[in-house]
This record gives sequence, C-alpha cells and structure tokens, in this order.
Amino acid sequence: MEKICVVVPCYNEEESLPMFYEEISRIAEEMGKEHPLEFEFLFVNDGSKDKTLELIKGYSAKDERVRYISFSRNFGKEAGILAGLKGSDGDYCVVIDADLQHPPALIPQMYSYVHDEGYDCAATRRVSRKGEPKLLSFFSSMFYKVINSISDTHIIDGAQDYRFMTRAMVDSIVALPEYNRFSKGIFSWVGFDTKFIPIENVERKAGKSTWNFRSLFRYSMEGIFAFSTVPLSFCTWLGVSFCLVALAVMTATLVKKIFFGENVSGYPTIITLVSVLSGVQLLCTGIIAQYIAKMYIEVKHRPKFIPKETNLESDRVKKL
Ligand code: UDP
Ligand code: MG
Repeated sequence: MEKICVVVPCYNEEESLPMFYEEISRIAEEMGKEHPLEFEFLFVNDGSKDKTLELIKGYSAKDERVRYISFSRNFGKEAGILAGLKGSDGDYCVVIDADLQHPPALIPQMYSYVHDEGYDCAATRRVSRKGEPKLLSFFSSMFYKVINSISDTHIIDGAQDYRFMTRAMVDSIVALPEYNRFSKGIFSWVGFDTKFIPIENVERKAGKSTWNFRSLFRYSMEGIFAFSTVPLSFCTWLGVSFCLVALAVMTATLVKKIFFGENVSGYPTIITLVSVLSGVQLLCTGIIAQYIAKMYIEVKHRPKFIPKETNLESDRVKKL
C-alpha cells in the first residue's frame, strides 16, 4: 500500500479550513476506491491568531489521518512547507494551500503522472492571471524575465507551489540547508522531471491573502539574491566601465591643457563626476550589502521554524 502525505501550510485559515478538509477527505476517499492508497493530512499551523489550531485539533481527534505541527509564532509559508516536508513520511508528498486556490481535485491526475508516467513531480502552472490587478501581472512577468536572464536556475512563469512529489525529490529539498528559502527556485534547482498542469487562476474561497505589493516585491528580490550572483558581477563591470570613462576624461583634459593650452572649467566637471561616482559607489555597496545581509542571516544558523505542539510520533519529530 502506498502512502500520500498531504502537507498544508495554514495561517489564519479558520474560514477556508472546513471547506478544505471536506474536499481533501472526499478526494482521498475517491482515490482510495481506485488505488491501494493510504492518506495522511499534515497541517502546519504557522502561528495563526484565529481558531485554525483548534479546528485542526478537532479534526485530528476524530480522524487518525490528520497530523499537525504548530509553530511557536508565524514563520512564513516557506517555513511551513519545509516543516511539513521534513515531518512527512510515505512514498509521495503533496504541498497544497488551505484556501482552495490549489484545487484538491487535481491530485488524482497528479498521482497518475507520477505513478503511471514516471514523472518525479507534478505541479500546476497558472496560465491566466484573471482577477489579479493589471499592474501586479505586469511586474510578475517582468520578474520572471529578469530572474531567468540572470539565474542558472530556470524559474517557470506561473509555476505554483502546488506539487505532488516523490520521496526522493522531497528528501533532496529538505537536504538544502539554506535559511532564505525561495521555494519556486528550490523546486527547480533540485532538478527531477516535473510535469506542469496548466490551470486558470482560482480566487480564494474565503479569508484573505497575506500578500500585498510590497511583500511580493520583497519576495521577488529574495528570489533574485538567492538564485543569482549576477548583480555582483554587474557591480564589477560598472566599476570597470567608470574607470575607463575616468581614464578617457583625464587623458582629454591633459591633452587640452598640454597641447592646446586650454583651461578646463573645473567646478561643473567636479560636481558632475562626484555625484555620478558617489551614486554608482553607493549602488554597488548596496548590492554587496544585500548579499552580506543574507550571509549574516545564514551564518547565525537559527532554526527556520520552532515547533511548539505536534501529534507526530517522536521519531518523526526528530526529523524536524
Ligand atoms: N501561509 C502560511 N504562512 C504565512 C502565510 C501564508 O502558512 O505566513 C499559508 C496560507 O495559509 C495558505 C498558503 O500559505 O495556505 C498561501 O497563502 P496565501 O493564500 O496568503 O498566498 P497566495 O495564495 O495569495 O499566494
Ligand atoms: Mg492563496
């Protein structure tokens, strides 16, 4: 009998959770009739301030398939995914949102891609951005263009965190030790054969998204700094270009003075050069600082999440 572990990161999902639980139970039942499959639902409560944890505990009291890990505070969705994958067991893992934006009804199809067709992973890919602000869609597609032109890891436009994965793929994901976790990049970096299922944008069934323009911008910068060092090379080349310009200006000034006896007007030249150069230097220092800041966070080796409560067996708790 094969086992599928469904990992669900939850943050303030009291409104969506009942619908989600009902839907995922229905799918599990249907799949159980057709294949010899066992299911586990592993909810990760990411420091919710509402009744999310109570709901999950309620489910676990009457349904032995329900497991949970509850964090000591909100650590972010990436930490939730990581904890769920680390604590999971079984042959396959599914990472899915609790708000039904990731339709559970796709799991049978994903299972068949992986189980019957030999893929290591099946994931959804959003092909429409219906219901999303135009400006946001524009910046999102810009982000994918930029990151794919400067990173060796190919990040597919619209690829989602909704994934059905084999144990081997899950193991290689949790083996990556970094603190700054940009899942979209990590899923692609570990490799493995992924089948993308195109889906329309689904709007949230209840509750509200934790994202806004600012947090999305920050998230995209995370992605760029975590998966590319091209901004650093950019600083180097900017430095080299400005040295060449400086050399040319200096030569021209000397030639004018020595061979033509011209007095070069100093003040405007100096002001221009000083402001341009200090701007460029600050920009480059800023870029370097971004990497140093990331390194600072990494070298502290802080845990990526702190579990406070769980109903996992002790050998699985050790893996967290
Ligand atoms: N989530 C989480 N921790 C957070 C924010 C979100 O575990 O700090 C969960 C949330 O409960 C949901 C999933 O991550 O199951 C996706 O969150 P959301 O719907 O806010 O993001 P979006 O769908 O807008 O990308
Ligand atoms: Mg959502």
